[in-house]
Amino acid sequence: MLNASYRTIKRRLQDESTSIESISNDAITAFQSQDRTSQVELALSILLGDFRKMGLAMTRKIFWDDPYRTTLDAVVTRVNGDLIQVDSTIFFAFSGGQESDAGSFGGYPVVKAEKRGLDIAYTLPHGHTLRVGDVATWQIDWARRYRLMRLHFAAEMVLQLVYRLRPGIERIGAHISQDKARIDFASDVSLLSLFAEIELTAVDLTKRDLPIVTDFSDVRAQRRFWKVDGFATMACGGTHPRSTGEIGAVKLKRKNRGKGKERIEITLAE
Ligand SMILES: [Zn+2]
Repeated sequence: MLNASYRTIKRRLQDESTSIESISNDAITAFQSQDRTSQVELALSILLGDFRKMGLAMTRKIFWDDPYRTTLDAVVTRVNGDLIQVDSTIFFAFSGGQESDAGSFGGYPVVKAEKRGLDIAYTLPHGHTLRVGDVATWQIDWARRYRLMRLHFAAEMVLQLVYRLRPGIERIGAHISQDKARIDFASDVSLLSLFAEIELTAVDLTKRDLPIVTDFSDVRAQRRFWKVDGFATMACGGTHPRSTGEIGAVKLKRKNRGKGKERIEITLAE
């Protein structure tokens, strides 16, 4: 509710014919319409200056609710030189091995996106003119994001299949870029002999076009998971397609990293 009214209140404040009293009266009415528990929570948040609880500082990650969204209007909530924070975003910031999106905010190309605890800080080009309260539009490079999503889930499938064929094997790294994904395992023996079976099973999963369900396992801690019925469930905060049918065939390549490290490189057939 607070996020929704924020924009309206800002517009009205900028209109000089609106008195501050009438706006605070609206705020009081909105406050009084809440139940007692919400009122106490909100009052405490204000008194303690806890903007995160007030829902003003925490960036809502729309790339989780709707990973197919390519534009979104958002309110600037913090500006610190070239760094900004917003009330909501579709621009994924590097985590769990998945690279950041490419795109722009308010017409400015995003230089860098970084996780800051549960929040995300975006670096804009030097000299941007955005200020707190401004509303601007996100735009992401969809071709890049969609490939990242598909390769991400291709890597998830491969990982689960390696776990299945080599129980107890340890994953020691992962990276997903626009062109390929890779997973590193601790292993003294080559994993090459598994590739044919993994590729075949991946094709089968794709052909069955199974729904990929994602949700929170813990809302407060912002922990997410994905689940494919009859296949696997895994903790992951990345962006995933809606169904396994979107992945298509995958190709695997072995890279021996030496010293007990095996790398599997994954590319999409198309
Ligand atoms: Zn994932």
